[in-house]
Amino acid sequence: MSNRRKFFGSKIVIASHNSGKVVEIEDLLKPYGIKCFSAADLNLDEPVENGKTFTANAEIKARAAALSTKQPSLSDDSGLVIPSINGDPGIYSARWAGKDKDFNLAMRLVEERLQNVSDRRAYFFAALALCWPDGHCETFTGRIDGELTWPPRGKLGFGYDPMFIPAGFKKTFGEFEPELKHAISHRSKAFTKLVEFCFAH
Ligand code: IMP
Repeated sequence: MSNRRKFFGSKIVIASHNSGKVVEIEDLLKPYGIKCFSAADLNLDEPVENGKTFTANAEIKARAAALSTKQPSLSDDSGLVIPSINGDPGIYSARWAGKDKDFNLAMRLVEERLQNVSDRRAYFFAALALCWPDGHCETFTGRIDGELTWPPRGKLGFGYDPMFIPAGFKKTFGEFEPELKHAISHRSKAFTKLVEFCFAH
């Protein structure tokens, strides 16, 4: 028996302003009949993400949304980690795209950093935090390993997807249909744990 807090509600605030993530999280929540509101729909401020880990930043976002909306809130903090360049861009994955959120630029910066590096292995990491209005949070993580290709390929997905090929596949995540990405992604792995521990009663 797990001592994780269970979720019994019918509404969740998705504490993210990233539309790519909101769509993926809504898709993942669909089978549970939970109504979703996004932070952008509710005009919530984006809190300062000054945590040192994905999990700490996920908690910051979900706790801020839960306290201001008085509703359970779910956030995702995620990113691309490249061990051969000290784990960059890591928790700064969104910031590499600049204030215009230009991921073609972010992918070019990654490729420049890899110019004289032979090890192109990378992984996506996701931390999910489900927080309640009393400040209690449950967190879960997931990871998918792969390698980086250049030039980017595919128009599906978001962020660094067009340059990431998951291990065992030939296509980039940018070429994956959403259902196939959901079957193996870092986010869905964290989500499976969240469902098991918080949604199954
Ligand atoms: P944050 O968690 O909102 O701070 O930003 C995470 C950033 O990591 C996103 O803006 C993307 O650039 C990147 N990222 C996270 N998950 C994925 C994914 O599934 N595909 C591609 N990029 C991702």
